Amino acid sequence: MELIDTHCHLGFEQLADDVEAVVARSIEAGVTGWITVGTDIQQNLKAVELADKFENMYAAVGIHPHDAKDVNSKMLTELRELAQSPKVVAIGETGLDFHYNFSEKSVQRRVFAAQLKIAAELNLPVIIHSREAFDDTIDILERHGAGVRKVVFHCFGGSAQQAKLILDKGFYISFTGVVTFKNAQTTRQAAEIVPLDRLMLETDCPYMSPEPMRKQKINEPALMIHTARYLADLKKMDFTAFCRDITVTSKAFFSLQEK
Ligand SMILES: [Zn+2]
Ligand SMILES: [Zn+2]
Repeated sequence: MELIDTHCHLGFEQLADDVEAVVARSIEAGVTGWITVGTDIQQNLKAVELADKFENMYAAVGIHPHDAKDVNSKMLTELRELAQSPKVVAIGETGLDFHYNFSEKSVQRRVFAAQLKIAAELNLPVIIHSREAFDDTIDILERHGAGVRKVVFHCFGGSAQQAKLILDKGFYISFTGVVTFKNAQTTRQAAEIVPLDRLMLETDCPYMSPEPMRKQKINEPALMIHTARYLADLKKMDFTAFCRDITVTSKAFFSLQEK
């Protein structure tokens, strides 16, 4: 069996000192590939370093909306250069977070648009972080995302109606362990309508362990197996067939076969 954790932060301090063991436990559980995702300059370098070190591990580089406030044009040039490293498979995470607003909205919009431009120029897919900013995210994608090849909304927590809009635009949707939470009825309704050729899974670890492991404070890729089982059941599908289908989707989205 093969599964890919399409969004993890193995460079974050909760996991970084122990990546070898984290990877070993992941493989043991059946999660055999990883996209480790950067959020700022330092984490981007870390993501590329880790991807270079481990087989079946790839990197995404981007500036998280929380960190948009610190960005200058020199950093965007550096990001563009780093994105051309052999194991970088996407730009991200980038997007808008109007829940926390750690960066001003106008700054978030500008830095998001700049990263869409880089993705279009380098022909890379984009991993979107969108929180309480759905309409603005779609708006910026429409105005600045013309040349962008593929887009995934990561850690999706929106409604079925929003999911439908994303699908209609040809974009992809990725779910975390949140979909297993008791109070996540809305997210489950969204998951039900996403076809497997547009659906991916992720941990977003070290955050948000899925049920029944929610008490494990530091999430890790091995635990994605619980989310996979849960969603296969939700979709009334054979577990092996479910894993096969979403792995095909993930590999195609990130062009992993070509790597
Ligand atoms: Zn995110
Ligand atoms: Zn993330």
